Amino acid sequence: MSLTKKILIALVLGVIAGIILTFIPESVFSPLDMYLLTPVGQLFINLIMMLVIPIVFVSIVLGTAGLSEPAKLGRIGIQTISFFLITTAIALCISLALSFMIKPGTEGVFDVNMAEYEAAEAPPIMETIINIIPTNPVSSMSAGDMLQIIAFTIFIGIALAFLKDKTQGIQRLFVQANDILMFLVNLVMKAAPYGAFALIASAIGGGGLDAIGSMGAYLGTVILGLFVHGAIVYSLAIWVLGKANPWTFYKGFFPAMSVAFSTSSSNATLPISMKSAQENLGVSKSISSFVQPLGATINMDGTAIMQATAAVFIAQVYAINLGFAEIIMIILTATLASIGTAGVPGVGLIMLAMVLSQIGLPVEGISLIIGIDRLLDMLRTAVNITGDAACAYIISENEKRRKA
Ligand code: ASP
Repeated sequence: MSLTKKILIALVLGVIAGIILTFIPESVFSPLDMYLLTPVGQLFINLIMMLVIPIVFVSIVLGTAGLSEPAKLGRIGIQTISFFLITTAIALCISLALSFMIKPGTEGVFDVNMAEYEAAEAPPIMETIINIIPTNPVSSMSAGDMLQIIAFTIFIGIALAFLKDKTQGIQRLFVQANDILMFLVNLVMKAAPYGAFALIASAIGGGGLDAIGSMGAYLGTVILGLFVHGAIVYSLAIWVLGKANPWTFYKGFFPAMSVAFSTSSSNATLPISMKSAQENLGVSKSISSFVQPLGATINMDGTAIMQATAAVFIAQVYAINLGFAEIIMIILTATLASIGTAGVPGVGLIMLAMVLSQIGLPVEGISLIIGIDRLLDMLRTAVNITGDAACAYIISENEKRRKA
């Protein structure tokens, strides 16, 4: 049986097991979760996380070195950033339109007085930009600071591209390191069905469904936005911009989407996303290793959808009117917040605090949606990485046609 089929079965079984687990007493679920589901899931996440930093380092060096003509690097860079920004803007428009139509914050009863939430301070924007260049690349790697690692690695890749024959030895070393890492990704993926099953059963069984209640309208609005964007907008982009078949794309990329869904982490999914794009979709290594790590770090359309919907939802619950200026502010701040969101579980919600405080909405409103965010995090992470892969696929298909 193919890995994709196995993962699909694991996802379905995981959901069923999770739903059954919500009916068993806490005294039975707790030990089962603590000694079986969580450890199996966490082991799987650790196994892939272990590979993330080395893969980002090695593959971006190779990717940048492979795009040795500066014109090609420039062209791909501009296309990538434009795709990321435009799709994020579309995602925000879709979610705002849906939230104003469905009005999730006016359905149901919300206990606003219960709300309590401490907002984290957002870092000043200039500082964030300056900090992209690391003063100590080793400490960026040990801290897992993706943008800094990407910046440093691109520099090394450019140097290799310029030095060519002089640095052949190092280049070969990187090629071989890449082979080792890809071999390990293949190995770790064999555990994916078990990891996915355990993570999903644990998330749903651990009260994931209890919190839904009055939050149904909000949940539905976010899921609808994610679906429209993840299935329709990307399909259209692949079809129109990439002149390729969307079905081929989703079929080939499914293993990565399911891992994103079960781990809720774009970063952790990165090795699998790159492998799926390169092996199943034929995306060239240099394009995949340039576009996908960058996308996993700064391009989060699913997160933007949640943040915009949440902002409108909270405004509706607190009966605050949003004018044109506030809507523009939501678009601007949610774009920045989604760029600033790290590809790890739950950070999108923390960054939402920044969006709310910029627009002058009550940050405590976050406590209303915290209960169901686990479930939405799974879905939006799958959309987040699909956007990066769609971009890589479109650019790669167009580059192939350019060459032909
Ligand atoms: N978990 C998301 C990701 O890794 C980020 C978020 O929205 O919390 O892509």
